[in-house]
Amino acid sequence: AEPPPFRNEPLLDFARAENREAMAAALRKVESELGRTYPLILDGRAIETPDRLAESVDPSRSTRVVGRVSTADAGHADRAVAVARAAVGPWSSTPAAERAAVLVRAAAILRRRKFELAAWEVYECGKPWREADGDVAEAIDFCEFYAREMVRLAEPRRRDVPGETNVCDRLPRGVAVVIPPWNFPLAIPCGMTVAPLVAGCAVILKPAEQSPVVAAKLVEILHEAGVPKGALQYLPGEGEEVGQALVNDRRVDVVSFTGSRPVGLLLNKQAADTPPGQDHVKRVIAEMGGKNAIIVDDDADLDEAVVGVLQSAFGYAGQKCSACSRVVVLEGVYDAFVARLAEAGKSLRVGPAADPDTFVGPVIDADAQKRILEYRGVALQEGRVVLDVDVSEQARLGSFVGPLIVADVAADARVAQEEIFGPILAVLKAKDLTDALAIAEGTSYALTGGLYSRSPVTIERVRREFRVGNLYINRTITGAAVDRQPFGGFKLSGVGAKAGGSEYLLEYLLTRSITENT
Ligand code: NAP
Repeated sequence: AEPPPFRNEPLLDFARAENREAMAAALRKVESELGRTYPLILDGRAIETPDRLAESVDPSRSTRVVGRVSTADAGHADRAVAVARAAVGPWSSTPAAERAAVLVRAAAILRRRKFELAAWEVYECGKPWREADGDVAEAIDFCEFYAREMVRLAEPRRRDVPGETNVCDRLPRGVAVVIPPWNFPLAIPCGMTVAPLVAGCAVILKPAEQSPVVAAKLVEILHEAGVPKGALQYLPGEGEEVGQALVNDRRVDVVSFTGSRPVGLLLNKQAADTPPGQDHVKRVIAEMGGKNAIIVDDDADLDEAVVGVLQSAFGYAGQKCSACSRVVVLEGVYDAFVARLAEAGKSLRVGPAADPDTFVGPVIDADAQKRILEYRGVALQEGRVVLDVDVSEQARLGSFVGPLIVADVAADARVAQEEIFGPILAVLKAKDLTDALAIAEGTSYALTGGLYSRSPVTIERVRREFRVGNLYINRTITGAAVDRQPFGGFKLSGVGAKAGGSEYLLEYLLTRSITENT
């Protein structure tokens, strides 16, 4: 039977008592399961590496171990690629509709375990409730959406003329290595994994070191939904060890990466190599960072702009590739906007992620905290402090950094050019719209961008000229919805792939044209 049309998974309303209670219950249940050990999953078998266990810790309380995870080495990578190669044939000859049905079943399991999975994100990644729920909902969306897209793409494209039949069909590229970041610990690994799977590829998932437990849950769910064992393997470990072994393996066809720019560019370069014995060009999908700007026009609704900027800059402590890290304000409203932003910023609630009132949780780990605090020092040099939230209390337990806003920042300042990936926002002044656009576009990133304006002429011009992957007008610049807002950047932010968009599956497919002379 035809599945119903795609529709985004609704977000939970935590104003309702039953949802608050269900989340609290899930947090208690997951708390009782913290500290367990997780194996690699290679060829469907659980493999423990007792002498090589990595600890995943709760960023809200750094002494709490969320899980201990076995870590793969180059030998495991070698075996996993061999298993994946052998799995491509049988899996890709399974009809597309059946592969799609596996994704729909996975979506149903994710939906059933929604609160529990959100609770794991709260503990493993310091995601506040709403953010965790949004991430689970997005994972469900990826499964439901790509399932329908594959059914559509599998329909052969016919172009017959007298004396000749012509048809195009789709073949999977083969073995895909998937290397996601930790900041959307379920949705990103899920989307990056189920897209190649439904396309008929075999996947080896190397999760980020900070979020291997949530990724283990994902793999468990996908296998339960019917993904064959050899078609999906789970190889946690260090990027520099198992990640490198996978990326550089000649039998790999696709390297799908989401993460920081230096690593993305490195993998792109390495995967371009075709050593003797490799018979194909690897396809690289590299989705990287951002230095995203919101422009505030001098006729903007400042109340809306203030709220939108604060949410975009400080949601998940600024640890989103889509986060606003620069706000470019036109001269006419600059002082008024900065004063209101600073005032409103005082009400940001910082705390442990498990606390339902928390808006700004911890940053992911002590290394990130150290890096962001270094940028804090730079920001204090490069700008005028207008908000500086004290988190010394919270920082006794976890890796917290207080939200910081600095104004009067120059366009070429480091805090206006470099991705910080934390709760630091730079405010820049623009003379007019031309200047504002030049500042907004004056970095080597082009992921998201925003505009607050009431002028149709300004809105029209910004639509025409602001070249970013995702442009948002009069709303927050984070929270792209699958299908409605296909997500991904340009310039050094990404290769132009659009996660959650109708072309995304083509990244994992080859198109074959077949002509018969009749
Ligand atoms: P990261 O440090 O680049 O890590 C991403 C992944 O790459 C991890 O699984 C990591 O493994 C692996 N890795 C690191 N070095 C490697 C190597 N030499 N060879 C193979 N794999 C390697 O990024 P992150 O800190 O997790 O994520 C934050 C970044 O992601 C930010 O820049 C953010 O903007 C970006 N991001 C972009 C998007 C997008 O759609 N454009 C979405 C989300 C995040 P280990 O964990 O073992 O190091």
